Amino acid sequence: TDFSSLKLHADTLQNLMSLGYETMTPIQAQSLPAILAGQDVIAQGKTGSGKTAAFALGLLEKLDVSNLEVQSLVLCPTRELADQVAKEVRRVGRAIPNVKVLTLCGGMPFKPQLGSLEFGAHIVVGTPGRIEEHLRRGALRLAHLNTLVLDEADRMLEMGFQPSLDAIVDQLPDERQTLLFSATFPEGIASIAKRILKKPIRVTV
Ligand code: AMP
Repeated sequence: TDFSSLKLHADTLQNLMSLGYETMTPIQAQSLPAILAGQDVIAQGKTGSGKTAAFALGLLEKLDVSNLEVQSLVLCPTRELADQVAKEVRRVGRAIPNVKVLTLCGGMPFKPQLGSLEFGAHIVVGTPGRIEEHLRRGALRLAHLNTLVLDEADRMLEMGFQPSLDAIVDQLPDERQTLLFSATFPEGIASIAKRILKKPIRVTV
């Protein structure tokens, strides 16, 4: 399965080729048609599966660069993962000029993050506690959000981020696409999926 079978912008397709992404990984082949169609998706995917490019392509294809508002939020359990995700989103999106990706993670100084938020971002990648805090302070506004991604959702629950996730989701527009990636599907994941996803397509690879 070739990326050219998907409806991607020509520049993005060419970029994928130049990155050496010639064929889709199984999780990409199974999830991208639904993701690009705007559907909610629950996908089983570990690090190394290519899950990051799968959701990155989804949010980048919808992105309106001329509107410097946060249009996508990616929640990750750790700063290390958030940094990796931001790097991959930038790589996959490098054919689109001026895409601003901002990471907002706990354990990092607050003030520079406030400065970056004032400057503006299209895509925010971060950990739930810090994102919740920026929302509470009114520094982060998500009224223009069109895509929410929960990456390694099972680990976020294990780390006790459930209350932060709920507080964040409370502030998001109802009309949005939600993509949930998790290596395992314990009861907690089923229950959060039921609350925040709409008619999700389930992908298991
Ligand atoms: P991830 O599972 O998102 O952490 O991705 C694992 C690695 O696979 C990353 O280094 C990606 O750059 C790479 N990758 C993702 N999709 C593809 C693809 N279709 N072909 C080749 N490499 C890929």
